[in-house]
Amino acid sequence: MSEMQVKLLFPTKEIAEQYYRQLVYLACRTCYSEMKPEEIWGRIQNGKVRDEKMEELIAKVVASGHHSTIEHIWFAFSISGVSRTLSHQLVRHRIGIAFDQQSQRYVQFKNTDDLFVEPESIAQNPEAHALFEELRAKSAEAYQKLVQLGIPAEDARFLFPQAVTTNLVMTVNLRELIHICGLRLCTLAQWEIRRLFKKVRKEVMAVSPFFGRMLVPHCVHEGFCNELNNQDGHCRIRPPLTKAIEVYEKWRRGELVEKSG
Ligand SMILES: Cc1cc2nc3c(=O)[nH]c(=O)nc-3n(C[C@H](O)[C@H](O)[C@H](O)COP(=O)(O)OP(=O)(O)OC[C@H]3O[C@@H](n4cnc5c(N)ncnc54)[C@H](O)[C@@H]3O)c2cc1C
Repeated sequence: MSEMQVKLLFPTKEIAEQYYRQLVYLACRTCYSEMKPEEIWGRIQNGKVRDEKMEELIAKVVASGHHSTIEHIWFAFSISGVSRTLSHQLVRHRIGIAFDQQSQRYVQFKNTDDLFVEPESIAQNPEAHALFEELRAKSAEAYQKLVQLGIPAEDARFLFPQAVTTNLVMTVNLRELIHICGLRLCTLAQWEIRRLFKKVRKEVMAVSPFFGRMLVPHCVHEGFCNELNNQDGHCRIRPPLTKAIEVYEKWRRGELVEKSG
C-alpha cells in the first residue's frame, strides 16, 4: 500500500533564514516608511534591523488583516502517495497556489501494487479489508488487461477507484497556505488531507518556526468554532460560536466571576 510523503523543496532553511522574514518585513515596512524599498532592504541586509523587530512588526500587520504582505514568500512541496480523493479536494484551492499533477493519460502504470491508499477504518476491519483487497486487485488486474488489449491509458484509468494514488508539486504563498491550513488542519477535516497539512506544517516548521506557527486551524485565529458538527463542543481547541456568544453575553452583563490567585 502507498505511503504519503511530503517534502518541502523550496526554500531551504538557509534561504528561509536569509530572505523570508526579511522579505515580509520589507513589504510591511515599505507601507509605513518614507524610505524606498531598496533602502529598507539595505538596512536589513546590513543587520540594522533585529530579528525580533521584524517579527514584531510582521505579527502586528498580519493580525490586523493586512495580508498582501505575506504573499511575497512561497513554499514548494513534493507530495506523493496520496489518493485522488485527496487531490480532488486539494486542487479546489485556486488563489495564490500552483499545482502540477502526475498524468493518468501519459503515464501507463506498470507497478500497480503500491498504487492504492487504504483508509485505516477499512484496514482495521478484517471483513472490510478483504473486500477492499479484492476490488483493488481486480481493478489493477483489469487495468493491465485493458492496456494489453491496446486500450489507451487515458481510458484504462476509468477502472481505477478513488483510492488510486497520485503525485503532485504544490507551490503556494504564505497567505494561501495559512488559509488552507485553517480549513484543513481542523480536527473535523477529512483525515487524509488533514494528515497532509500536518506534514506540510512540520516541513515549514523545520525551515521557519516563526511562519510555521501561523499554520493552525482557523478557529485558533478567530477564537471560536463555526463547524456545524461541533455543536456539542467535543473538539476543545475553541468553543462553538453559540457557546462563545453565550459567554460574551454573560461577561457583558457582569455575570462572570473572575478567579482570584
Ligand atoms: C470541511 C470542508 C467541507 C467541504 N465540503 C465540500 C462539498 O461538500 N462539496 C464541494 O463542492 N466542496 C466542498 N468543500 C470545498 C470548499 O467549498 C472550497 O472549494 C475549498 O475549500 C477551497 O477553498 P476556498 O474557496 O477558500 O478557495 P481558495 O482558492 O483557497 O481561495 C482562497 C480565498 O480567496 C477568495 N476567493 C477565491 N476565489 C474566489 C472567487 N471566485 N470569488 C471570490 N472570492 C474568492 C475566498 O475568500 C477564498 O476563501 C469543502 C471544504 C471544506 C474545508
